[in-house]
Amino acid sequence: MVLSAGDSVVDMTAQTMIVPAYAAPSAKAPLERTTIERRAVGASDVLIDVKYAGICHSDIHQARDGWGEGIFPMVPGHEIAGVVAAVGADVTKFKVGDRVGVGCMVDSCRECENCRAGLEQYCAKGNIQTYNALDKNGEPTYGGYSKHIVVDEAFTLRIPDGLALDVAAPLLCAGITTYSPLAHWNAGPGKKVAVVGLGGLGHMAVKIAHAMGAEVTVLSQSLRKKDDGLRLGADHYYATSDDATFEQLAGSLDLIVSTVSAPLPLDKYLGLLKTDGAFVNVGAPEEPVSLNLFSLILGRRSLAGSGIGGIQETQEMLDFCAEHGLGAEIEVIRAEQINEAYERVLASDVRYRFVIDADTI
Ligand SMILES: [Zn+2]
Ligand SMILES: [Zn+2]
Repeated sequence: MVLSAGDSVVDMTAQTMIVPAYAAPSAKAPLERTTIERRAVGASDVLIDVKYAGICHSDIHQARDGWGEGIFPMVPGHEIAGVVAAVGADVTKFKVGDRVGVGCMVDSCRECENCRAGLEQYCAKGNIQTYNALDKNGEPTYGGYSKHIVVDEAFTLRIPDGLALDVAAPLLCAGITTYSPLAHWNAGPGKKVAVVGLGGLGHMAVKIAHAMGAEVTVLSQSLRKKDDGLRLGADHYYATSDDATFEQLAGSLDLIVSTVSAPLPLDKYLGLLKTDGAFVNVGAPEEPVSLNLFSLILGRRSLAGSGIGGIQETQEMLDFCAEHGLGAEIEVIRAEQINEAYERVLASDVRYRFVIDADTI
């Protein structure tokens, strides 16, 4: 049986299908239009007609080999929103026409303690990333900069009706990466939460923390985006280039979520926390950092990290965002603008996420 799904040729009886995509042919090479092979829809798989794919900073890191040896050609994209085009025989959660999303991982061992606890992102055997990884058959995974993707239903999310697909796409990485630590460290009424950096991740952290009922402060290098920050839900906005900020806010915060990848003077930031406060990194510099441990000891403070979220929690985040009317602030681009968009992301010239219109791939 041959199913025509847009420009993709889906031979349901064959092992693979041919799908148009944008790929980096080698490290640091510009992305170009090409075709890739995807596996046929298996019994527990859904075939997703990709509508939108967000551009995450980590796409650029990986396409340019900033995180070590990548698998090329590489089709980035782990902020995927689309519509189910076909389902395998054993699929129970989804039917053709459902609005769905895929985030940073497409599988895990499903057996380890973390997987059983819904923490697939911390799978003891390592989860299988949506792209730049090998699947269980040893085949490379390809991400969302493509017309279609085949994903096991267990790693497919439902996008609630109240959320438009374009503004929902970035929630699959930027949304869950910030929601998870905010939920884990109990951001909510009576809590003072600061977000370091107002970019793709930071702007979602501000929206979500505000919707959770916390008092939200943005800590940004300058006051350049102050109006935006307040509009997105921040109560306060301070420049970290001004030393007075660190004196004024000393010992006042319950939780700091740092979304930046630049190395920070951690002792200064830890000094902003109350007793029992936590500083949580969701962004990380490539080089190791150092700190004075007395910054933690004096105040029983914690320094922590957090990576995306589990599948169940990602669904909870999408439902929360729909309930509160939260989507990402986006600029929709055509696929041929991807390389230009990468340069603009690197120059921090985007408010706050580029989203590729997959119809243009
Ligand atoms: Zn990402
Ligand atoms: Zn596992």
